[in-house]
Amino acid sequence: MSEVFNFCAGPAMLPKEVMKKAQAEFINWQGTGCSVMELSHRGKEFIAMAAKAESDLRDLMSIPDDYSVLFCHGGGRGQFSAVPLNLLPSGKSADYIISGSWSKAAAVEAEHYGDINLIDVVSQVDGETHVLPSEKWGLNPDAAFVHYCPNETVDGIEMFNIPNTNDVPLVADMSSTILSHQIDVKKFALIYAGAQKNIGPSGLTIVIVRNDLLGNEQKVTPCIMNYKLLADYGSMYNTPPTYAWYLAGLVFQWLKELGGVSAIEKLNAEKAALLYQTIDNSDFYENSIEKESRSQMNVPFWLKDESLNEAFVVQAEQNGLFALKGHRKVGGMRASIYNAMPIEGVEKLVGFMRKFEKGNR
Ligand SMILES: *Cc1c(COP(=O)(O)O)cnc(C)c1O
Repeated sequence: MSEVFNFCAGPAMLPKEVMKKAQAEFINWQGTGCSVMELSHRGKEFIAMAAKAESDLRDLMSIPDDYSVLFCHGGGRGQFSAVPLNLLPSGKSADYIISGSWSKAAAVEAEHYGDINLIDVVSQVDGETHVLPSEKWGLNPDAAFVHYCPNETVDGIEMFNIPNTNDVPLVADMSSTILSHQIDVKKFALIYAGAQKNIGPSGLTIVIVRNDLLGNEQKVTPCIMNYKLLADYGSMYNTPPTYAWYLAGLVFQWLKELGGVSAIEKLNAEKAALLYQTIDNSDFYENSIEKESRSQMNVPFWLKDESLNEAFVVQAEQNGLFALKGHRKVGGMRASIYNAMPIEGVEKLVGFMRKFEKGNR
C-alpha cells in the first residue's frame, strides 16, 4: 500500500520515527529482555525513563520549577471533573468560557461539583464566526478560576491571545494544541491535555499545575484525581499508564531533536496557511471562521455542494488521505494537522482538493 496520511482528530497519527523506535525496542527494551509495558513502574529503568520524559517536557515548554507536571489517567474528560474537584471550594464559583463543543462539555461536567458561570463568546455575524476578545468577557474578579479551551477541536476555533484574568487562576484545556506553538506557561495556573492528539497514544493526560493550587481539593475528590496526592507520589500513587508515558517520552525526544516547539510552530503555521489558502482561493470549498480565530491544528471545511461529501471522502481515501469526514455535529470535512503531520501530507491533501474540484464543477 502506498503512503497513507491520517487526518484523524484523535487518536491521531504519531511521528513515523517514533513508531519505528517503539517497534525496534518493543519486546526488548534497554536490554531488559522485556517490553517496557511489562515492567514495574517502580523499577529503576522505568523511573529513569519517566523522569526523563518529564524533564524533556519541562524543557520543551519552559515549565517553571514551581509547577508540577502530572501524568494522569482519565483523558481530557477526566480533567473536566478533576479541575473543579481540586480548584473549586464550596461557596465559590468558577467562570467557564464557552467557545465550542469541548468547552461546553467541560462546563456541563463542572456543574456537578459547584457553581459554574457560563460565558458565551462565539457569535455569527453575516455568516462569519467571531470570537469575543477576552477584555469583553466580563469575568468575575472573585471567581475561583477561569476555564477556557484555547483550541476547539470540533469547531476549528483557536484563541491565540492568552486572556488576562488578573489574579484569578487561568485553567486551559490544551488537549488539541499543547506543544503546537510557544506559550508562556507562567500565564496559566493549570494546563491539561489528553495525550492522543499532540503527544502520544490515548490513556494518558498531562496536567501542569502551579504548586500553590495544590491541596484545596473537595472532600469527595477521588485519590487518583487528587493533584496534591499525585504530585507527592510523582504520578505513581496508582499504576500510571506506563506504555503511553513511554511513548509520550519518545515524542518529546523527537520534538527536541526537531528543534523544539519554536521549530514545529513554523511548520505548523506553514501547513495551516497552505490549507486555508486552498480553501479561500476556491469558491468550491468554504471555512467561515474569522481569520484570526482559525485553528492551526483542526481545519474544518465545507463543500458548497454538500451532495459531494460522500464522494470526496471515498476518493480521498483511495488517494491515501484518511479520516477527513467532519465531526457529526458540524458536518463537512475536517483535516487535523497536528505536529506529527508532515507538510507532505498537507501538500497531498490540497493537490487532491484541487483535482476533486476540477472534476466536479
Ligand atoms: C479530545 C478532547 C477532549 C476529550 O478527551 P478524552 O481524552 O477523550 O476525554 C477534551 N478536550 C479537548 C479540547 C479535546 O480535543
